[in-house]
Amino acid sequence: MAIISKLSPSPGDNLTFHPELSTSTSKVYFCERKRVIFISTTEKAWVGAKINEIMMKIICFKKPRSWPKILTVYDGAPGQRNASTRLMLRKSGREGLILAGGTSERQQPNDKEINLIFQTQMRKRVREHVLNTRQADHVAGIDHEVPNLTVRQLIDFSADSLRCVSTEKCINSFEKCGFAAESDKWSTFIRDAVENPPSIDDLPEEYQSAYDHTGLEPVPKRKSKKGKIYAYPFVCSYCNTEYTSKYSDSAKLHMAAEFGCPVKSLMKSWKPTPYRKALFFDQNFF
Ligand SMILES: [Zn+2]
Repeated sequence: MAIISKLSPSPGDNLTFHPELSTSTSKVYFCERKRVIFISTTEKAWVGAKINEIMMKIICFKKPRSWPKILTVYDGAPGQRNASTRLMLRKSGREGLILAGGTSERQQPNDKEINLIFQTQMRKRVREHVLNTRQADHVAGIDHEVPNLTVRQLIDFSADSLRCVSTEKCINSFEKCGFAAESDKWSTFIRDAVENPPSIDDLPEEYQSAYDHTGLEPVPKRKSKKGKIYAYPFVCSYCNTEYTSKYSDSAKLHMAAEFGCPVKSLMKSWKPTPYRKALFFDQNFF
C-alpha cells in the first residue's frame, strides 16, 4: 500500500529511499518490515499528474508471462486520465479500465470494502492515540495540543489497519462491482443495471453525448469552431494533444526534447520493473 503525506521522515524511521521513483517535489520511501510505500510530497493536489505517475511506476511492474492478464481499475480523476497512465499500462502488459464519471461509488472495488474497512480502522487508531495522549497529559498536568502523527506512527497505524482487510474481502469487492462471470455475485445495483440497461435516449438532450467507458479514447467535449478549417493541424502521436498548426510555437515546444511532451519523454526513459524487483513483491504478497 502507499501512504501519501506531507510529513518528511527522520533518520530513525528506518525507511529505504528510492531515488529512481522520486521527483524534486515528491520522495518515495519503502518500509520493508511493514511492506508500506511512503510518498512524502509538497505537491498541492491529492492525486495530481506527478503523484499518479509515481504510483503507476510502482504498480506497473512487468508481469511474468505465465500470469494471465492483470486488470487495473481506476476512476476518472484528472491525474489518472493521462496518456502516460495508458502508456504505462500498455508497456507493462496490463488492461486498464477507467470507470465512467460518477460511477466510482458503485463500481470501484476498492471503495466497496477495502477503503471502508481501512478508513474505519485507521480512524479508530488515530482516536485511540489522541485519547491516550490526552489522558497521559492530564495525569502529568500538561495542557497542550496533541501533535500530528509521526511518520513511524502513520506507517504503523496504516499497516495494522490494512491487515484487517482480508484477501476474501478483496475478492468479494471485485465480485460485487461486477468483475465476475457469475451474476449472482454482483451487487443488486449492478445486476439491475445490466438486466435493464438505461437508454441514452431517456436522458435530457444535453447529456446525450458519446462516452468512452474504457477511457482509452479521448472524447472531445467541445467541437472546433464552426467552419474553421486549419491548413496544418497537428496531433501529438504520443499523447493525442491537438494543435491548430504544426508550425505553431506551442506545437514545436511540445515536441521538443526534455520539457516537451511528457509522454514522449516517459516513453523513451521508462521500462517496467521486473516483478521480482517490484517494490512490494515478496513471496507472501500474492
Ligand atoms: Zn504529446
